[in-house]
Amino acid sequence: MNRLKYFPTQDYSFLLDENHYVYDYFENEGSLHIYIKSKEHGCCCPICGKMSHKLHATYRRKFQDTPIRCKQTFLHANVYKYDCENPDCEGKVFMEKLPFAKASQVRTDALNTLIFAVSMFLSNEGASKVLALLGVQISNDTIQRLYDRIEFIDNPDVEGIGVDDVAIRKGQTYATAIYDLKDHHLIALLDGRDGEPLKEWLKSHNKVRLVARDRASAYASAISEILPDCVQVADRFHLLQNLLEYMKDIFKEEMPAKLYLQGGRVSENAPDKILREKAPDNSWLDSLHYDNTPPRDSDGNELFYDNKRHDLNSAQYQHHEEMRKKTAINPGHTGILGQTKETTAKKYRRNVWNIITDSKEISGYDPRRSFSFGQSQSL
Ligand SMILES: [Zn+2]
Repeated sequence: MNRLKYFPTQDYSFLLDENHYVYDYFENEGSLHIYIKSKEHGCCCPICGKMSHKLHATYRRKFQDTPIRCKQTFLHANVYKYDCENPDCEGKVFMEKLPFAKASQVRTDALNTLIFAVSMFLSNEGASKVLALLGVQISNDTIQRLYDRIEFIDNPDVEGIGVDDVAIRKGQTYATAIYDLKDHHLIALLDGRDGEPLKEWLKSHNKVRLVARDRASAYASAISEILPDCVQVADRFHLLQNLLEYMKDIFKEEMPAKLYLQGGRVSENAPDKILREKAPDNSWLDSLHYDNTPPRDSDGNELFYDNKRHDLNSAQYQHHEEMRKKTAINPGHTGILGQTKETTAKKYRRNVWNIITDSKEISGYDPRRSFSFGQSQSL
């Protein structure tokens, strides 16, 4: 008898945080449902901060979570409501805080992060389709709503900032992005890059002592005007970019437009062309042993190719030529209504027209004029 070496685990807490456990799950063709509960039966009041164990009610919340095996995955959480036991507290009932989603959220934070990660490099429409393949159901409008809800957390006491211009639409609309130099998170996005919005922003952030900026003079003058004691640093990327641009200008001035390389030597003048006649490779032709003599029959007489059907001087061809001349219609004209000869395309369009209208007697219809379906509706 085989003894099992390993036993199936019933602990799925690795899927969640350590305070929650899985008490049930089921899977169908399109989705996976995981039922969870919190281990703790107590929570701190968000207003007074006092711990409460007095259960008020339970309710269920459903979240879409990051997909497992590309299947749409839902978390069904049993969530508790508690009564605040502090008699001096204004709040009476409060809800248990979940570590993976905020209040009124229908997707977990992890899933929202995944959605941002995918949609960052795609259009909303494209991201919605790619996410559907991964097992996430989200519409393009909802992705846009997620983006619209992003807020910049401003810090009025910030001391070191980075300023750069970013293109909203390249070549047309620009904005000024301001970063916190400590952790490089975006703290403001101002309209335009002419320095005026930056001046306004700096007035309300006068603790700034260090600015890393690009080489735009608009920013430099705005910073000098509002915060003259502030240290301005040009970052390495922009310094290198500056250097490369100046070097390019120097090379453009000093060097001719075209340079030629011949035999390892650099020359400003185009080298003379050496013309070489192309001749067939005779040794290769000889190797083919091609027999170009006319074919002969068993008696040794030369055989001729019978091209009677293509012979323009044959009696049959001459006769057909005469007949064609006799019966020919004036070339270029059909003789009907004096129109120019209808091309196949025009004939086709006229037939389509007749099918649509089911009648040729429509006033204003000119068969010589081509039409579109838009015109047919206006008649
Ligand atoms: Zn309280």
